[in-house]
Formats: sequence, structure tokens, C-alpha cells
Amino acid sequence: METHRRNQYLEAIGIDVWVPRSSGVSQALEAPLPAPGTGASGPAFPASPGSVPLSVPLSPELSADWEKLRAEVSACTRCALHATRTQGVLGVGNRQADWLIIGEAPGAEEDRRGEPFVGRAGQLLDAMLRAIGLSRETNVYIANVLKSRPPGNRDPKPNEVAACLPYLMRQIALMRPRLILAVGRIAAQNLLSTDVPLGRLRGKIHPFGELNTPLIVTYHPAYLLRTPADKRKAWDDLKFARGVFRQLT
Ligand code: SF4
Repeated sequence: METHRRNQYLEAIGIDVWVPRSSGVSQALEAPLPAPGTGASGPAFPASPGSVPLSVPLSPELSADWEKLRAEVSACTRCALHATRTQGVLGVGNRQADWLIIGEAPGAEEDRRGEPFVGRAGQLLDAMLRAIGLSRETNVYIANVLKSRPPGNRDPKPNEVAACLPYLMRQIALMRPRLILAVGRIAAQNLLSTDVPLGRLRGKIHPFGELNTPLIVTYHPAYLLRTPADKRKAWDDLKFARGVFRQLT
């Protein structure tokens, strides 16, 4: 991606790129991304080159499996959240994408609209993704650990996660993403079955599932709206994820 355009996206996110080059921070933003583990520079980041374009239809079998999953989530009563939700929120984006973004659970706006990551947090996530050449319209799929909104946006309960996680695992099996980005503590800890703080999960490749899909952890955009000082760390995470993905291609 051109530096000019990337800087525009970074400014939209709220990361100041107009700092002296000598500061080191600017150099870090402008520098080509190192290949993980090597420190070597790589080529310009391709916008998820392996993703099948959104316009390419799923096979009839895959399409039927996705529709079955969607219908099951819509009618699901496995946990108490079904009683208070407006609708189940399965996911959005390209179901053949290489990148899968996983958050925590629908919020009020997501529950109303039936789509994950809408509202201000969703706009910030979209801006962050655009900065590395990704968008929900073309080459990324976005889902949550929980498909129904916890009342008052409270944290999911363990029994709710246990009841709902099989749906996400089916999505992953259907998609077979090449890289998973877990956004926020709740998503990361539940996916990795750990209570290690988010800060210690960042900056590492976590092999996930039977296929050892690389999973990378970063902050939730809602947290970043409350704590803008950490946006730069999130940008570091995205650059790290981008470098890991590049190693896969
Ligand atoms: S959160 Fe998941 S398990 Fe619970 S009712 Fe919704 S879809 Fe079903």
C-alpha cells in the first residue's frame, strides 16, 4: 500500500504519523515490515492475495452448510442469552477470506442490526483493517465468540461460551482461514483457554485448532476508543499480523 494512503488511514485511526523521522516512531511506521523472526524487510504487503473474491460464489455444498449454521444460530436456545437477544449474529464478510477476525460478542447496535462490529468500535476496526489492506467488503470475515448479546454488554459467562463456541468452530472449519486475529481480552482468552493477560498474549503466534492456524492477539477497538494511547500498540500488532501472513504466502 502506498505510504501516502496508509498514512491517511493511520490518521483516521488516530495515530499521529506527522512526527520527525528522527524520532524512531515515524521510522517504525514508515519502514518495510520485518519478516517474523528474521528482522528482514519484505515486499509490499499484498491485500490478502489468496482470498477468493467476494463475487466468487461458494460451492453449493459449502453454501448449504453456511445456511444450515445460520439457521441454527437464529433458532438457538442453548444458553439463556436467547431470551434477551434481538437476533443471533453469525458474522459478516467474505466467507472464503484468508483472514478471520474474532471479537467477543454482539453489542446493542450489533444485536439490532445483525452484524458484528458496527458503530464507533466497528468503524475503528474497519479503519485499522484498511490500514493493512483488508476490508469486510472484500477479503476478511468477522465473527464473535458469542452469537447473542449479553445484557448490558457484560462479559460472557463460561457456560455461555461453552454453549456457543461450537458455532464458531464450525465457521472456522468451513472457512479454513489462514490467519486469525483475536481482538480483545475476552476473545483471546476464550479462544486460547487461558487467563494470561492480553498484554502477554500480544506479539506471539498462537497455533490454533487442529490445523495450527496462526492466531494473533490485539486490543478490542472499543478499548482503543477508551484508551487511545494504546492505538500505536494495536498498529504494531497489525503490522506483526501482516508480517506473519506474508510468511504464509
Ligand atoms: S449465545 Fe450462542 S449458545 Fe447462546 S443462545 Fe446465542 S447462539 Fe445460542
